Amino acid sequence: MRNKIAAANWKMNLTLTEGEKLLDEILKENIELIEHQQAIFAVPFPYLQFAQKKVLGRKNYFISAQDCSDKKSGAYTGEVSVDMIASLQITHVIIGHSERRAYFNESNSMLADKINLILEKGLIPIFCCGESLEIRESGKQNEFVAKQMSESLFHLQPGQIEKIIIAYEPIWAIGTGKTATTLEAQDMHGHLRTTLARQYGDKIADEISILYGGSVKGNNAMELFSQPDVDGGLVGGASLNAQEFCTIIKSLPK
Ligand code: PEP
Repeated sequence: MRNKIAAANWKMNLTLTEGEKLLDEILKENIELIEHQQAIFAVPFPYLQFAQKKVLGRKNYFISAQDCSDKKSGAYTGEVSVDMIASLQITHVIIGHSERRAYFNESNSMLADKINLILEKGLIPIFCCGESLEIRESGKQNEFVAKQMSESLFHLQPGQIEKIIIAYEPIWAIGTGKTATTLEAQDMHGHLRTTLARQYGDKIADEISILYGGSVKGNNAMELFSQPDVDGGLVGGASLNAQEFCTIIKSLPK
């Protein structure tokens, strides 16, 4: 079975004290994750180390960075390299979130560079893709998202692509309270898997977890996650509330 994943994206929220309290409240629930289930917390850079210590020894709980530099090292003030992230024993890095693409002009080719650095270091990229409302309304969402994938990912060897996690996040559903219907989510996830299969074959496409992101909440997670090609969620707003996120973790298929 593919990994089923509840991933929290804290974005630029919470002070250290608030972050500690939130993580403590979630971990206190002692939700046991079985073999193919995972919970990942993408916390701001300054919190990576404390968060990593908190999940140490908890089976299938991981900490992720929310981004990384596309440069290996050097005179890039304010940037954080994959090597730095890896040196904290962090295992995952989100890249290509629509907020990074929109506010920081991150292009598909820049993301290809980031993917290479992440995989080179043995970390797992969580690659975000997704279309704007305008593209959805023009009916071109399938080709748009396939292009995002092909320009950032399809230079990878089969042994590399199978290591990544994909998050489909329609921009019109992020932080808006507007969730894609289960049918819309399944349709796009099915399309992404078919696109992967065309490039890498069915076996590899079948092993890659594709998460849905966009106003996932405790009350819609189970239905979304029950779709055959939806392997969990990348969660923004609802991940800042312990009860909500615990419900989302518990909604992962067994
Ligand atoms: C996100 O930013 O990754 C996200 C899905 O946010 P929200 O859950 O708040 O829509």
